[in-house]
Amino acid sequence: MDSVIKRREFLKTAAALSAGSIAVTQAAYYESASRTAQSQFRQVVIASSNGLMSSARAMEIIRSGGDALDAVIAGVNIVEDDPSDISVGYGGLPNEEGVVELDSSVMHGPSGRGGAVASLRNIKNPSKIARLVMERTDHVLLVGEGALRFAKAHGFKEEELLTDTAREVWLKWRESHSTKDDWLPPHQIDTRDIGEGCRDYFRATGTINCNAVDQRGNISGVTTTSGLAFKIPGRVGDSPILGAGLYVDNTVGAAGSTGRGEANLLSCGSVMVVEYIRAGKSPEEACLQTCKRIVDQTKMKRLLDDHGRPNFNVSFYAINKKGEYGSAAIWSGSQFVVNTGEPESRKGDCAYLYKH
Ligand code: ASP
Repeated sequence: MDSVIKRREFLKTAAALSAGSIAVTQAAYYESASRTAQSQFRQVVIASSNGLMSSARAMEIIRSGGDALDAVIAGVNIVEDDPSDISVGYGGLPNEEGVVELDSSVMHGPSGRGGAVASLRNIKNPSKIARLVMERTDHVLLVGEGALRFAKAHGFKEEELLTDTAREVWLKWRESHSTKDDWLPPHQIDTRDIGEGCRDYFRATGTINCNAVDQRGNISGVTTTSGLAFKIPGRVGDSPILGAGLYVDNTVGAAGSTGRGEANLLSCGSVMVVEYIRAGKSPEEACLQTCKRIVDQTKMKRLLDDHGRPNFNVSFYAINKKGEYGSAAIWSGSQFVVNTGEPESRKGDCAYLYKH
């Protein structure tokens, strides 16, 4: 009898939930837990340069009292849904076989939790699935077929993510640039003239990272991407790897990245930024110092120019508990977006190590 009742209750609860309404509880829980602290924190949202609308949306949610994770995910969903951004979600550039594979990670500071998905096909909002991994599994990272099945189990529908625009860019690459791919013959650390692919215009990368401090001083972040265009199927960059493409410590701050994921994976840059902030650096100094660590880690000659500088870029975007923000990249010319409570976000120039 007891188990029948429990099962009925379970079915009732389950019926009340849909794929879109899962996020619910977390914000409400943390709201009641720390409402009293509300006014003493400086709210801020930082994002990569494609995050003008995302950060404005995130700030709107934060200003109405929302949780930072609800805010940043709602923000990046705008870019995931937008076919004109060919580096994220629907309309993202595909792998070398013409199939779109998406990566995303989320971290929720107050609960100290994170979730991620990688190589996810046919689902345009990987950030929502990353959040579900965090909230509805005992795992942190799901990949490929398993991630897709998990998304479908939660009611998400499969759809074609390859738009005509992305397909045409891929076709052009395939027809004229397919010798510049990611397959390398055996080579030495000082071999120079191979691996042109990562410097090719058509291989341009892109991603959105968005981090926020909400009115309760709670910090969260999200990174979402279609990854490196024309990658080897199954390739995973830094974006879904907690510590590399995103990291949040609710007592310290948050950081996320865009750029050459392979380089950042070798340094776990985002956790490094947060650790530099913990040690007393400003968000900008912490990002800059982390860029330097990536440069120091890069020893393969094929990734260096004639002056020994990296021939790729990585950018970081960071905030601290006080609501201060900063961003830096290896190369000049990168921008970030920030919102400190206004209806519209603004762009700023990232600090950098090398000038173009
Ligand atoms: N970091 C992403 C990746 O390597 C791509 C990018 O940000 O441009 O997958």
